Amino acid sequence: MFSAPSGCGKGTVLNELFKRLPDIHYSVSATTRAPRDGEVDGKSYYFITKDEFNNLIKTNGMLEYASFCGNYYGTPKEKIMECLENGQDVILEIETAGAMMVKAVHPEAVLIFMLPPSVEELKSRLIGRGTEDMDTILRRVGEASREIQLSRNYDFVFVNDKLDEAVDTLTGIIKYSKNLTGNNIDLIKGVLEQC
Ligand code: 5GP
Repeated sequence: MFSAPSGCGKGTVLNELFKRLPDIHYSVSATTRAPRDGEVDGKSYYFITKDEFNNLIKTNGMLEYASFCGNYYGTPKEKIMECLENGQDVILEIETAGAMMVKAVHPEAVLIFMLPPSVEELKSRLIGRGTEDMDTILRRVGEASREIQLSRNYDFVFVNDKLDEAVDTLTGIIKYSKNLTGNNIDLIKGVLEQC
């Protein structure tokens, strides 16, 4: 799971990551937020109504969900489970409360947090991208401090200062995580059966 404060450059870093690791499945979230210019339904997000969102929760269709700056965001369960059953790596780009929900149920999941180089830089990136009004920008900066507090619970933390270095770090963490003991219990069992 990959989290970072809003405006930290998650999308840019992930686009570069997928060029290097094209086999990873990117989990498309559902949200009640309105689409921004250029966002495509089913690719950026599934843009759904609050009723549809609540329905997915009621029918146990969400792996996790959270409210963020007045909108709901959640991870539809079905596709993720299908990928994991097929042994495919999945990346969830989600905020911290949702990440904690997943970690509680799937302790083997790896939590990666990306920090901005500074809070000033974060603010100027949010203002510069021009997708939110000033009120929303200030709410998002407030959320950043809550999220950065929670980054202490993550497995890995790094700073998005230079794009290439950030992508190198994230790629390395994902490759390295494949060898964590908790992710290789079946492998160990398989070898033991040959003893
Ligand atoms: P944005 O509105 O900027 O696209 O996303 C706002 C925040 O919601 C970001 O921190 C993003 O990572 C998070 N987010 C996106 N999808 C999900 C999701 O499925 N679950 C949770 N918990 N957070 C999400």
